[in-house]
Amino acid sequence: MDKLKQRQQDVVRLTASDGPLPLIDLQGLPRFEPGWVWLVGAGPGDPGLLTLHAVNALKQADVIVYDALVSEDILSLASDTAEKIYAGKRGGKPSWKQSDICDELIRLAKADKRVLRLKGGDPFVFGRGGEEAEALIEASIQIRLVPGISAGIGGLGYAGIPVTHRDVNHAVTFVTGHLAGDRDAEKMDWQAISKGSPVIVIYMAMKKLPEIIRELLAAGRSIDEPVAVVTHATTPKQAILVSTLEQVVGDVEARKMEPPSIIVIGKVVNLHDKLGWFPSL
Ligand code: SAH
Repeated sequence: MDKLKQRQQDVVRLTASDGPLPLIDLQGLPRFEPGWVWLVGAGPGDPGLLTLHAVNALKQADVIVYDALVSEDILSLASDTAEKIYAGKRGGKPSWKQSDICDELIRLAKADKRVLRLKGGDPFVFGRGGEEAEALIEASIQIRLVPGISAGIGGLGYAGIPVTHRDVNHAVTFVTGHLAGDRDAEKMDWQAISKGSPVIVIYMAMKKLPEIIRELLAAGRSIDEPVAVVTHATTPKQAILVSTLEQVVGDVEARKMEPPSIIVIGKVVNLHDKLGWFPSL
C-alpha cells in the first residue's frame, strides 16, 4: 500500500512550456448537419477520455442537452455560442421526465438546430440512450450515435481494477443496483448472477447497498469476498474503498462516500493494490 501511495502523485499537465502542442485535427470527421441529433457518450469524467467524435460534436453543436454526470471541464470544450441545457437532477428537485427530454430533443431538431445529447459514460449503458434513440427515429429525426467509455469499465481502469483478468475471471456481469430488494425476480435474478459471474460490476448502487449485499450473500457469495467502491472515478475527486461483502456497508458509511459510485465484487479487486495508479482519496 505504501508503494502505491508513493507512486500516486499529482498529475503534471502539458503546458505551452512543453513546446508546441499538436492541435487535434478534426478534418475528416463528420460535419454536424442542422436538424440532426447526435447522441454522444462523454465518458466517466476525465475529459481525456472523450472520443474524437465527442470533441467534434462539442465543437459544432448549436445546443447541448446534458446530464448530471457531464462535467464542467467537458462542457468547456463546446463552442462559445452553444446553448447548454441541463436535463439532470439539481438540488433534490426531480429530474426531467424522460418524455420531456425526448420532446425537447425533437423540438430542437425540428427547429433545425445541431443538437448534441451528451450523456455520462456510454449512452447505451444504463443511460436510457436506447429510449431516446427510439423516440428520435420515430419522429423521423436523423441521428448519430457515439459510444463512450462506461464508468463500469473505464472508471475501474482508473482504480487499477481490470474487469477481466486471465488468471481470475472469464466473465463479468454489469448490473444496476436500483432494483435490489425488488421482489419481482424476473427483473433481477441475483441467484443466477451470483452463480454465473465471478465478477459483478454494479451501477447506481449507493442507495440500495445494504439490500444488494443481502441479495448477494443470500445467493451464496462469501462474506470475505473483496469489494471495491470507486466514487467520482477518473476525476480529481476519485476515491476508492477496498472492503469485503461483510464490511462494506459500514465502511462506506464511515467514509461518508457519496455517489456517483461503481461497485465491483470479486477477486479482480485484489489487483488494485498492485495496479492502482491514479491519485485517489
Ligand atoms: N451511462 C453511464 C451510466 C449511467 S447510470 C455509463 O456508461 O457510465 C449512472 C451511474 O453510473 C452512477 O450511479 C454510477 O454508478 C455510475 N457512474 C457514472 N460516472 C461515474 C463516475 N465517474 N464514478 C463512479 N461511478 C460513475
